[in-house]
Formats: sequence, structure tokens, C-alpha cells
Amino acid sequence: MRKDYDVVVVGGGPAGMMAAARAAECGAAVLLLEKNRQLGKKMLITGGGRCNLTNAADIPEMVDNIPGNGRFVYSSLHRFSGQQVRAFFGKLGIKTKVEDHGRIFPVNNRSGDVVGALERYLRQLGVRVRLETGAKGLVVENHRCQGVAAGEEVFTAGGVIVATGGLSYAHTGSTGEGHRLAEEAGHRITALFPAAVAITCSDGWIKGRAVQGLSLENVNLTLYNGKGKRLAAESGDVIFTHWGLSGPGALRVGRVVALEKQRDPAAVLQGKLDLFSERTARNLEEDLQQCISAAAKKSVKNLISSLLPERLVKVLLDLAEVAPETPAGEVIKARWNTLISLMKGLPLQVTGTRPLEEATVTGGGVSIKEINPRTMESTKIKKLYFAGEILDVDAHTGGFNMQVAFSTGYVAGEAAATALRETLDEVDSVGVNYD
Ligand SMILES: Cc1cc2nc3c(=O)[nH]c(=O)nc-3n(C[C@H](O)[C@H](O)[C@H](O)COP(=O)(O)OP(=O)(O)OC[C@H]3O[C@@H](n4cnc5c(N)ncnc54)[C@H](O)[C@@H]3O)c2cc1C
Repeated sequence: MRKDYDVVVVGGGPAGMMAAARAAECGAAVLLLEKNRQLGKKMLITGGGRCNLTNAADIPEMVDNIPGNGRFVYSSLHRFSGQQVRAFFGKLGIKTKVEDHGRIFPVNNRSGDVVGALERYLRQLGVRVRLETGAKGLVVENHRCQGVAAGEEVFTAGGVIVATGGLSYAHTGSTGEGHRLAEEAGHRITALFPAAVAITCSDGWIKGRAVQGLSLENVNLTLYNGKGKRLAAESGDVIFTHWGLSGPGALRVGRVVALEKQRDPAAVLQGKLDLFSERTARNLEEDLQQCISAAAKKSVKNLISSLLPERLVKVLLDLAEVAPETPAGEVIKARWNTLISLMKGLPLQVTGTRPLEEATVTGGGVSIKEINPRTMESTKIKKLYFAGEILDVDAHTGGFNMQVAFSTGYVAGEAAATALRETLDEVDSVGVNYD
């Protein structure tokens, strides 16, 4: 039977656009459906609106930064690595640069240019892009996906790739419709949860806005359960808000908090913030001792303010019950010990996380147990593929989620297109190479 298209891709985010591009590079006639008026709406806001394309980490390090089923994407990362993503965009005229923590951005910091380059490339490849067209159902017959229904129309296809994203920042289009499509096709959707998400705390000094807006660089944040068992330990920058902690370091711990709370909503969790991650308590004590010997009459508040932001110093002194104007030399040893232990482990009463809608990434999704990691094809329905955040895969911030979207999209696009051909050799003759 003649098909309208070789491949129909649902969702025009990074995963869907890459899938469409790769399928077309492999010679397929491709239709890309996007329900928004524009492609890549979420991609435009990544990396603070500068488009954090990928990360300079090598593949093992990438996998370490994908706490949600990182090993599942190992093969995709090999097939289309971070370096290849950079080379791909380089060929489209987007020069990239590496920033702190290996994060990669376009040199001109303009996410619009990155999305624009992808759109132009899709046009150049002859991909048909239908905007404002939401997929409403999959056409499945005899355990084989035959097409996509969108409103009154049905687009028949040799293969269908669903890349509709997660369930956070719904205004960008990620509203979970793809999860319904997958479920209707017989796939299991694992419990969704906010990953890469800010943490909420009940401590009075946080809720009282004493440190709201204060950011700390490269601190260690450790999470414990009610029995004192360590659940997570991450380092990175954090920002205090009036409800808790945000910033990359907090976001890394957020997914563990969310999972614990999902498991047991009454779970008691405590955080400890090491404000001096590069110094031991002993080093810190020695440094403070030197400062005290040099200026015993200086107020304890001023003395510690040479090491930490003043607003935070006030919180520490308050918790240690030391009057701020006390001359440093008059603070008794026991109080100094309390202060040092607060500096090395400022306690936080962790109550939970911000909601899924506000999470940078959605954890959970289409169960990876029903997906072939080498092709992204469903093991339940032939010619049905999934790519990107719709999968039960989530990564830390820093370009790793975008890389997962690009890698899985690339693999799905290639597999869907090549499944229609007899051998991979024919694909090689297309001659597109990003090494
Ligand atoms: C504020 C913010 C900052 C981020 N920063 C970073 C970062 O710095 N680095 C990083 O790696 N990641 C970052 N991410 C995560 C990253 O943006 C996502 O992981 C990535 O966009 C997922 O790509 P995707 O293609 O799978 O899904 P999406 O980008 O969500 O795209 C899915 C697309 O499918 C469309 N769609 C949905 N349903 C249908 C339907 N029924 N029919 C047709 N179309 C449909 C949607 O409109 C959407 O355009 C950030 C996310 C947010 C929210």
C-alpha cells in the first residue's frame, strides 16, 4: 500500500527536529508535525535563553550525568556524540564555545539562531513541516504503526517517531499528549516526577527571606533521610529563594528529593550545605584561629564576613546563638566549634520540591524496557519509535538533556528511515557524516 510519507515525526523539539533531519538525510520522505506555531519553543529557553546545546564531557561522563537510565542511551551517545552534535551545528553555520562545567553554547549566545539553522536545514532536506497540527492518535494495525491521526486528517507512514517531550513548562507545548499516545499503543509509562528541580525548605531563616537571592559558588549539598542515611551528595552553585534552594547544585539533588517524596510523602529529609567544600573543618579552624589572633577585638560578625556573605553570617551567628558584635577573641571554643560545624554542614529542613510544571526536566516516561536502545523502536509495536524527554530518561542540567534528545532523535530517525531500505550501505551512500 502506498504511504503518504516514509516517516512521520510527532513533535518539533530538538529530538523531533533531529529525527526528521536524520531520516531525510537517509533519503526518507518526512513529515514533521508540531502543534505550536513555531518549532523548538522549549529549546529556545534552555541555558537561560542562550541554548545549551550539549556538553563537552566524554561519553562515560555524560552517562554519569544522566541519573535517570543513563546506560540506556549509551549506544545512542556513541552513534551521535556531543562532538558530532557540535560538528553538525558547525556545518549549519553555528559556531559553538565551551563554558564552565563543559556546557556548550553558540558563540553568539542566540538560541533563535540555533533553532533557525535547524529549520532551514529541514527545509533544505525537503522535510514537510506542519505547524499548529497536534497529533491526536496513532494508527496501529496488527502491532504495526501505520500512521498518525491529527484532527480530521490521517497521515499514513512507513514509520512513526513520537518526540513530544515531557510534562514540564507546559506552555512550551510539552503537555504529555505523547504519553497518552504511547499508552494507547500499549506502552507502560513509568511514574512521572520533577527532575532537575528546585528544593523547598521549611527553615525559618529561609522562609523569612533573610538570604533570598543570595548565591553561593561550588558548595556541597548532601541529602539525608530521617535515619541519617545519605541519599545524595552533589556539588555546584546554589541560590537561596524564599521557598528553598535553586541553582545547578540544588537541581541535581532535587530529583532524589522528588523520588523520595513520591515513595513516601511523609518522608523526613534533611539537607546539609558545606559552605567550604575545599577546606576540611580542621583547615577552617586553623584559618579562623589565625584571623582571631590577628584581630581578637574585631566583632565575630565582621571577622566571618571576610569569608562568607554578611547575610549568611548573620544566619550562622543566630543559629549558633552568638551575638554578632561579640569581639572574636571572646567567643568561647564551644561556640566556635558550633560555628565551624554550621559552616561545614548548614542544616536544611527539606520539605520537597517545586512542582513538575516548574521542573527543568520530567523524570519517568515511556518505559525503556519496551524500547530497543539501538534503534529507539518499540518492542511492542513495529515501526513505532520514541525519542527525547518522552522516554524514561532524565539528565542533570548542563546540556545533557539536549544531548539525549539529539542522540535518541538521530538514532530513531536513522532507524525509521533505514528500516524502509534494504541495507545500511544505501544510507552510507547519502554521504552525510558528522565526525
Ligand atoms: C527552563 C528550561 C531550561 C532548560 N535548560 C536546559 C539546559 O540548559 N540544558 C539542557 O540540556 N536541557 C535543558 N532543558 C531541558 C531541555 O529543554 C529538554 O530536555 C529538551 O527540550 C527535550 O527535547 P524534546 O524534543 O524531547 O522535547 P521538547 O523540547 O519538549 O519538544 C517537544 C515538542 O513536541 C510538541 N508536541 C507535544 N505534543 C504534540 C502533539 N500531540 N502533536 C504535535 N506536537 C506535539 C511540543 O509542542 C514541543 O514542541 C531545559 C528545560 C527548561 C524547561
